[in-house]
Formats: sequence, structure tokens, C-alpha cells
Amino acid sequence: MKAMVVRDTGEAGVLALEDVPEPELRAHDVRIKVDACGVCFHDVVTRNGTMKRGIELPFIPGHEVSGEVVEIGPRVTQFQVGDRVAAAQRRHICGHCGLCRTGQETSCEEREFLGDAGLNGGYAEYVNVEEDNLALIPDGVALEDAAIAACAIGTELNAIRDIGKVRPGERVLITGAGGGLGIHGVQLARLAGAFVVAVTSSEEKAARIREAGAHEVVVTGRGEDFSARVRDVSDGGVDVCIDNVGSPTFQPTRRSFAMGGRWVFVGQLTGEFVQLNPAQLFFRNLSILSAKSTSREQLRDSLDLMRRGMVQVRIVERLPLDGAVEAHRSVEAGRSVGRTVLRPAL
Ligand SMILES: [Zn+2]
Ligand SMILES: [Zn+2]
Repeated sequence: MKAMVVRDTGEAGVLALEDVPEPELRAHDVRIKVDACGVCFHDVVTRNGTMKRGIELPFIPGHEVSGEVVEIGPRVTQFQVGDRVAAAQRRHICGHCGLCRTGQETSCEEREFLGDAGLNGGYAEYVNVEEDNLALIPDGVALEDAAIAACAIGTELNAIRDIGKVRPGERVLITGAGGGLGIHGVQLARLAGAFVVAVTSSEEKAARIREAGAHEVVVTGRGEDFSARVRDVSDGGVDVCIDNVGSPTFQPTRRSFAMGGRWVFVGQLTGEFVQLNPAQLFFRNLSILSAKSTSREQLRDSLDLMRRGMVQVRIVERLPLDGAVEAHRSVEAGRSVGRTVLRPAL
């Protein structure tokens, strides 16, 4: 099969189109003919070597997968050939630990993130995923859109609804609002009844973010302190921040909170450490929280929101597999508003 392979980490050009054997089908595996695979910042940090945990070279990146089931392993009971499925970012979980049994499989000790190790990932014609990590795509949801339901929508649903527990009327800051996660986070925060303040890097993106439902958009240059403007438009600071950026905006984000703020970390775009004096937390009574990927239940909820038209999927570009190089450069530069997907059939 055709796949984009990373044999050595480095700049985007290390992604190379290769002919590789289809991955071996194990007992609980479902073989998916990939319709679309989202290009995520996670793929950038695994490809450039910033992220090392769980990475095994060579690998085929890609965890935002949708497609049609073409073969099932002998122990598979939940899916059949011909089903339309979306992957919940992981390739394997144990399925029986306390975390797996209570919808917290994102933290299962045995979890294997899809596309981080070996020649089985979404930037390919075929990918194998164990059945516990898949959801059926409801009628009325396009296969292509379903590819990004888990990561770009489900992770923000996790952060806003389940971890951040956003309530109507609360002021919510979304950083990196023009990115694949951020643009859906804006919609979900609005849906939760929040007063939504978004931070982004260009006027052009700001217009798209307003369309997605932000009440206020603060446009800021790299390294600028946007906190005074956020506090101004939110009448004194925000109650919750869904932080899709991490280190690069750490200090201005910290200064944007009202008393008792809840800071939910979702993304970390660089590997840098940050400076924090613990007093800075308790003087403002801040809580630091984190949202880690998407459970299968959150994926199903995201697909339902899409089916009902309550969230509009923002896919901005479709490229063939070897378009991954260009897509990585564009994601790295923060150029697009929404997600780019690779479509092996193109
Ligand atoms: Zn992702
Ligand atoms: Zn488990």
C-alpha cells in the first residue's frame, strides 16, 4: 500500500511516499480503507522529534482517521465489512482496566496512540485499529468530516464540557482559536452558553473565528502580551481558558484570568518549559487542568453534534497523501483556519 513514512525525524521533507506492506491484521483489529486523515499539530511534533514519548521509528503518522471497514480480525464482534467508522485516536487500549471501563481509556496504561509507532498510521491507504477504538459514523455525517470528529472536536468537547465544566454565562478564552481544535472549540464554547473570547494571530483568521461564534476576537502578534485586551473585553478577566497553545502564550494567558479561573491545557505547540511562581496561582485562586485526547463516548457525542448540525466541521483543504509535506508546513506556520485532511484516493 501507499503511505507517508517517517524514517528519521526532522523538517517536513522527511515525510516520504513509500510502498509498504499492509500492516498485519491481529485478532481484534479492524482494517480500514482510509477515506480521510486529518493533519494535526501532534503529527508535526512527532515528525520533527519534539515529542519522544511512545514514538518508534519508522512510523506512518496520522490518528484522525475515517473510512470503510474492509476486513476484520477473528475476534472482532462490534463491526462488519462495509461499516463506516471513525477512529478515537488510539490503536489499542487494554479494554478492561478501571480507566477503560469508566470512559477514561485516554489514560489506560496500555494505550497506544495511532500513528506514533511502526508502519500502521492514518497517512496511508489502509490502517488497522482495534475495535474498542472505533465508532460507527451516523448516516448524514460525511466520511471526510468524521475523520476529525475525535481529535479536533472531541478533544475540545472533553476540555469544555467534561474537564472545564463550562456553564452558561461564563467567560471563556480560546487560545489558538484559528487552529483545527480552536475553531471547533469556539463553536462548542458558544454552544455551552459561554461568552467567548478568542485569541488569534491575524485579522484574516479573526473574521472566520467571529463567524464560528466568538463574541470577541483579540488579534495578537507572536510574543505580544494580549492579557490587558482580554481582561478589557471580558470585564475583568475570563473564568475558563481552553488553552490550545501552551508555552508560547503562557504568561499572557495567566494574566487573562478572573479570580477563580480554570485553566484547561489541551495543546502544547513547542517543547519549552515555562516559569511559574505558585503564588501566581493562589493569589488568583486558579486551577490548572488538562484534557487529554478523546474517549470513544466523546467521539460518539461529537459525531452526534455533527449529525444534528450543531457543530460545523471546518475542513479547509484536501490533499493526496504526498501533500502531507505541504500540509505540515502550513500547520507549522499556523496559516490555515481549520483542518487539512489527506485523502489517499485523490
Ligand atoms: Zn489530532
Ligand atoms: Zn485500560
